[in-house]
Amino acid sequence: HVVRDDHDGIPLGFYCRSSLAPYLDTDELFEVTKQGLTFFADFFGYEYAFHKYDQVFVPEFNFGAMENVGAITHSERMVFRDPPTENQRLGRAEVILHEMAHMWFGDLVTMRWWNDLWLNESFATYMAYLALVESTRFQAAWMAFNSGMKAWAYRQDQLVTTHPIAGQVPDTDATFLNFDGITYGKGAAVLKQLVAAVGMEAFRDGMRRYFQRHAFGNTTLAEFLDAIDEGVERDLHEWAALWLETPSLNTISADWSAEGGEIASFALDQTAPDDYPTIRPHQLDVALITESNGSLDVAGVPVSVEGERTEVPAAVGSPEPALVMPNLGDHAFVKVALDDRSLDYVRDHLERVEDPLLRQLIWQALWNMVRDQQLKSTDYLPLAASKVAGETDIELIETVLASVSGTIARFVPDDQRDEQAHRFSDLAWSALSEGAPGASTGDGQIIWARTLIGLAITPEDIARVIALADGDLNVDGLTIDQDMRWEIAIRAVAHGIDGAADRIAAERERDPSDRGERAGLRAEVAVPDAAVKAEAWRRFHDEGYGSLHLTAAAMAGFHWHVQREMLEPWTMDFFDRVADVFETGENQFTRSYFASLFPHGRVEERVLERSRALLGDLGDRLPLLQRSLREANDDLERAVRCRAFAAS
Ligand SMILES: [Zn+2]
Repeated sequence: HVVRDDHDGIPLGFYCRSSLAPYLDTDELFEVTKQGLTFFADFFGYEYAFHKYDQVFVPEFNFGAMENVGAITHSERMVFRDPPTENQRLGRAEVILHEMAHMWFGDLVTMRWWNDLWLNESFATYMAYLALVESTRFQAAWMAFNSGMKAWAYRQDQLVTTHPIAGQVPDTDATFLNFDGITYGKGAAVLKQLVAAVGMEAFRDGMRRYFQRHAFGNTTLAEFLDAIDEGVERDLHEWAALWLETPSLNTISADWSAEGGEIASFALDQTAPDDYPTIRPHQLDVALITESNGSLDVAGVPVSVEGERTEVPAAVGSPEPALVMPNLGDHAFVKVALDDRSLDYVRDHLERVEDPLLRQLIWQALWNMVRDQQLKSTDYLPLAASKVAGETDIELIETVLASVSGTIARFVPDDQRDEQAHRFSDLAWSALSEGAPGASTGDGQIIWARTLIGLAITPEDIARVIALADGDLNVDGLTIDQDMRWEIAIRAVAHGIDGAADRIAAERERDPSDRGERAGLRAEVAVPDAAVKAEAWRRFHDEGYGSLHLTAAAMAGFHWHVQREMLEPWTMDFFDRVADVFETGENQFTRSYFASLFPHGRVEERVLERSRALLGDLGDRLPLLQRSLREANDDLERAVRCRAFAAS
């Protein structure tokens, strides 16, 4: 199935399987495509160079998308079979613009070697968000940038396997490892910081010089920096060495005092982890937030942070703030530790902060404090519960609920897990049934409903979502879509609910598509029966389920927290088998295998010990497996620390 259009003389096309034609919303797809083509040609000062622009939705595509010149291939997931949220539409527009940016960054000018992969991926990522904000209806895209790209980067940059944005890449196998949160997320965040440091105009002029100079050629980092450098006073080569060639990140905190209702002293302190002691320059705005008569006033003070302590004379004499947040506008790639007075204010009055991006940054600071054992997971969850029900920004509700789900799965002791999940399941149900402010729109309902389903762990909560699927319970305006129906049915199977097999059979009939086939396989493997698990385990290691995507779907149904005792034999067998799998399997297969079958949910010392022992046995073999194990161990260690801290 193909739909054609054109734009400024460039022929455009969208292709998909005929069976997906009813779901192909070409109006929006063409709109974003045209907005992007206009924006990039203007921003880069260089017309689209490749004569036509087709986009093809491909079944079982292994990546999100691929920037083939003039014929982009996209994963078929981007054709929405259920009604999408605005945020899902934003995510798809971002991918469209990312691949389009590659027509300039990557295809018109290409990095000389893979060590400058970030010249492709970081730029395409940053430019896609800039294009979203500047040329499409997705005006709040910097919030999604923060909750998606930057959150990914922060997480990865704090793992033991972190690496510089630009580094040594001996061969193409090593390249495969670097398609990660550092190359995409951190690289793009550092570009946002570069733009804050040199100004948007100087950045844009530098880009124009770069494309004029290097079109249809290859470049290195130095050539890129030279193009920007010409328009600015700052020595970017020194800046780049600190930002691009050293791993990890800094934490910023405000140290201030007040007297007689005014700020008497104000400084920003910068720290670095012991293993990576680099102190960096940061261009940021400090938010000084004062309250009078119940309304807030936010003043931004620009600061060039250099060194471990930066005095901020411009803040002295300002009215005494109720809350200080050192990264207004989210231009800096740093962790923020809130000072005690600000933390107290947030606990009581976070909802009074009107700017949603600023609220999001505060939520992110709280989440970082949980991960760093500065705030107990068991204190964070009640705080989140009390604030999120009143939250009105949909993007923010989704971000906070995702952190909540992650906290419950990993950072609370096993014996409190059910109770915490039940708390949020109830909260989601009240939000939906009583029409909380954030659940009054279609998108808000979908997000709360997905949370209701995802956190249904106790028998009572599972019964409730089953009643929703069966129409015995209803929420005005909410449709339980096919994806939700599958999640509910598979959950019923995994928890051994009566009638679960019939439920799966009914869903298979309702959804005979490839998506239904994958969901059906996940359900088959989720059955809480040791014989079923043994047969699935054998098949993962032998003939599989017909294709990479089908086998991956089946593997995703294997591990369930509620089945942990029954799954014990395979928890340890994984470590005996995984090296063979990595020895012989394709990269895409081993990635799914590890993600689904490593016992991530077993936050236990003995699992860690077994995993460390395997890592030791590997020596310098199988670098991809080494990296996966080191990251999984790091995650487990953090979860152990957070649980112990919560119990202390
Ligand atoms: Zn890309």
